[in-house]
Formats: sequence, C-alpha cells, structure tokens
Amino acid sequence: MRERIENIDLSIRKISEKASNKENVVRFDIGQPSFDTPEHVKEATKEELDNKQGYSPMLGLEELRKAIAAEENDKIGFGKEGKKIEKEHVMVTTGGMGALYAIFAARLGENDRAVFNDPCWGPYKMISEVSENQWTQVQYWDEDRNLREEAKEEIAEADMMVVNTPGNPTGYVLTEEQAKEIGEFADENDTFLVSDEVYHRLTYGKEHYSPAKYACDSAIIGSVSKNHAMTGWRIGWLVDEEENIEQYAKVSRASTACPPRISQYAAIEALENDSHVEEMRKAYHERRDILVEKMNDLGWDFVAPEGAIYAFPDVGEDSWDFCMDMIDEGVAMVPGEPMGPESGENVRICFGSTTKEEIEKAFERLS
Ligand code: PMP
Repeated sequence: MRERIENIDLSIRKISEKASNKENVVRFDIGQPSFDTPEHVKEATKEELDNKQGYSPMLGLEELRKAIAAEENDKIGFGKEGKKIEKEHVMVTTGGMGALYAIFAARLGENDRAVFNDPCWGPYKMISEVSENQWTQVQYWDEDRNLREEAKEEIAEADMMVVNTPGNPTGYVLTEEQAKEIGEFADENDTFLVSDEVYHRLTYGKEHYSPAKYACDSAIIGSVSKNHAMTGWRIGWLVDEEENIEQYAKVSRASTACPPRISQYAAIEALENDSHVEEMRKAYHERRDILVEKMNDLGWDFVAPEGAIYAFPDVGEDSWDFCMDMIDEGVAMVPGEPMGPESGENVRICFGSTTKEEIEKAFERLS
C-alpha cells in the first residue's frame, strides 16, 4: 500500500460513528441538504429510464453541457476577456469531486504545489495526497477582507491555488473586490486558479462573484449536489479552455469512463427548471438567521455565514474535545482541527441538514 494513502486521516469518522450510536442527536455534522431531490427531477429521470442505458459521451451529454454553459454564462463570463462559455469548455464529471480530481491529476506533477485557504474543505488535501503532489495551506484574507501578505507569498510560489466561494466550512462569500484581487494576483503570478463554486446559488443577501473571471489560466468547478439537493446523483462539472478539457478528459476516462448517464438527465431537468433552488435557498436563509441568533446568545466568536450551508464558530477550546463531549449532550458537529492549522478551536455546523426546530433544540442543549 502506498504510504501517502495509508497516512490519509479519516479521524472525522469518529464523530459520525459516535453520533450514529446514540439516539436523538441533532446532526449538524452531515454536510448535505435536508431536502430531497425535487419531484419533477425524479419524474424526468423515470421517463428516461425506458430508453437504452449505455455509456454517455466521455465529456457528458451535449444537452447537459449546453445547459451548464448557459448556467455559467449567467454567472460570470469566463477568463480575462469575459469570454463566453460554450459547451466545448465544459466537461461533465462524477460530482464536483470528479472535476477536482481530474484537475489535480492532470495538472500537478509530484513536485508541483497547490495552495488552499485555512480553513478549507478537507478533501482538497486528500485529492492532493491521492494524486501525489504537494500542498500548503495559508489564511487568504484578513479581517478587512484584504489578501494577506503571507497568502500572497504562498500563492506566488504555488503552481495552483484553490478558491472556494461560497466557502465550506465558513460560509464566507467573496465580494467583487476580493474576487478581482485574488484572480488578478493569481494571474500576475502565473498561478493556475481553481474556483470551486459548487454553492454558487446559495447566498444570503450577497451576490456571488467568480475570481475565475480575472485570471487567464483558471477553471471553475460546479455541481448539482448542493444547489439542487442532488448529492447522490453524482453530477458535477469543470469549465476550462477547450484544449485543457481534452486533457482532463483522459483522467475521467481512466477513472470513471463517463459520468452516470441517467443522472445527467436529472441534471438537465434540474438546471432547466430550477425554481426549487430559490425555495430551498429561502429555507436555508431562515435557518441561518436562527443559527446566528443562537450563536450570538452563547457568545461564540464567528463570522456570520453569507453563503453555502455552514457556520464555523470559534468555541474557545479544543475542537475535538468539544465535539466529542457535545455528542453526549445530543449535538453532533465537525471539529475544525483537520481543516487548517488556525482552526483548532472552531467547529463546523451544517444548517443545511437540519430543520429550524432542530437548530433550536440543539442550542437548548448547548446552552
Ligand atoms: N467542493 C466543496 C467545497 C464541497 O463542499 C463539495 C461537497 N461537499 C464538493 C466540492 C463536491 O461536491 P460533489 O462531489 O458532491 O458534487
């Protein structure tokens, strides 16, 4: 077995294992929507089941690539000249995860280095370990939302950087100025910028801005998992220049051959008839407001989430001890420690996976 695989730390499982063994625990640790996939999406998929279910084209169904291009064009335009996104710039992948893996495997050699924000979503590091390249982690932003000098040094040195907005685990959303600053900085320093935007439709009183617009060499990661409550269908995508898409496709081919065909029909329906997104977003917004109020009542130190489905408060003690103890009280949360060197006293609370009533119940237990 390769050492880097053996060394991957899945200690976070301890939380779900302990929580599953106890009854009536509020599960803030589960990072997926409480909503089920919308009924019309399921219906469209059932109709498609009567047709032949073979492989799909390696880059995904043409209709889906077009729908994704339309979604991305609504969002930003692409690359420095605000170029229009065409289906040729899109590769459909097995989840946003598949897109990230294709990028890491195709772009980074064993001595190449990726840089991630502190804190960051854990699997970035895991993908880097599996695809055998190097990574570092540094806090990107100061309290005034300026790019920190230390972050600039790391980004300038790195071969690739990942920006995640809206962010997991913090719910942090970049302003237009921040997107511009970090995109331009990556561009000036020839650092390939990966913009992970899988939560781009889930913002609360904020606009989503993509840093990919400001960097020539940039890719966007998208997904139906969270925005459309479709985590189990495993459909995501990657947007980049056509010649790069051809290279990433080789990784996809070598790992999954193509994304799941039936799920691609579900994704087409979800993107083309998407009023459900706003309904879910409103519900998350309400939950977020309750959560912010409750965290304020407890006197926790936090930045109010502006997007995604997470909050990342500082609880003022070791995050592992706190999370393990709180399961005994009936509330499961994820320790921040594995998410970054500066995050050892933070915990991730997912308000997307729980109801308003559960949030209230959890905070009665925490207070
Ligand atoms: N990026 C981030 C920041 C995420 O939180 C997730 C899902 N948890 C993904 C990418 C991947 O999403 P999926 O593979 O389910 O599309």
